Amino acid sequence: MRVRFLGTSTSYGVPVVGCRCETCTSTDLRNKRTRASVYVETDEGVKLIIDTGPEVRLQVLREHVTRIDAVLYTHFHADHTAGIDDLKAFNAALGGVLPCYGDAPTGASLRERFAYAFAGTPWIGLIPHISYTNVDKEPFYIGKTCIQPIPMRHGSIRATGYRIGGFAYLTDTSGVPASSRALLQGCEVVVVDALRWEPHPTHLSVPEALELIRDVGAPRGYLTHVSHALEHAATNARVGPNVEVAYDGLELTV
Ligand SMILES: [Zn+2]
Ligand SMILES: [Zn+2]
Ligand SMILES: [Zn+2]
Repeated sequence: MRVRFLGTSTSYGVPVVGCRCETCTSTDLRNKRTRASVYVETDEGVKLIIDTGPEVRLQVLREHVTRIDAVLYTHFHADHTAGIDDLKAFNAALGGVLPCYGDAPTGASLRERFAYAFAGTPWIGLIPHISYTNVDKEPFYIGKTCIQPIPMRHGSIRATGYRIGGFAYLTDTSGVPASSRALLQGCEVVVVDALRWEPHPTHLSVPEALELIRDVGAPRGYLTHVSHALEHAATNARVGPNVEVAYDGLELTV
């Protein structure tokens, strides 16, 4: 399986508009972060992206992603959904409706905010055409690839992580309950939300993310959804040999 980080930042993006901090003024390209998303190409040949933030078009152009079979949504926050209109390019590539998956509240929010994308009228290229399937905690299939949803807390709402084979993507979480941690046993690579060093009400801190990676026994961990409080090289030097701060464009083979 091939995983490519399309974006790795928290909702503000990095650099933050108007900020002159060390990270935001850095010339290290790993400190230039777009909103969190990944592209996954499974062993069965299924191509999907997780979330469609406001930069999705720029991200897929940058990474030469020309066709996807599905979108998985973690939750409805704008930094994960606001780019939905750009999915129309993938309708053209697919020649039909693009299947999307996520929890029920996310589906309800998308139907309300992007009603036109569910129109069901013949597709003439102007708007995206998506279908939406509610997933809870039961595994489901896209083609021959099995996807395991991982329910997580994200402040007062739920967000959904996803496990695909030995890979798990767990962004936008303030806590992963024991029943969900059990679903992560045996993972080879776990990608975890880590906003900053200090605790935060809706996201994991770096120490909390490291604890989660250790607790589920993953041999490799990556931190994502990071804020400008985490300068890439300085943070990377502190998180240990088996964990790395992800950056836009980083590719993993799982
Ligand atoms: Zn977010
Ligand atoms: Zn800054
Ligand atoms: Zn969020």
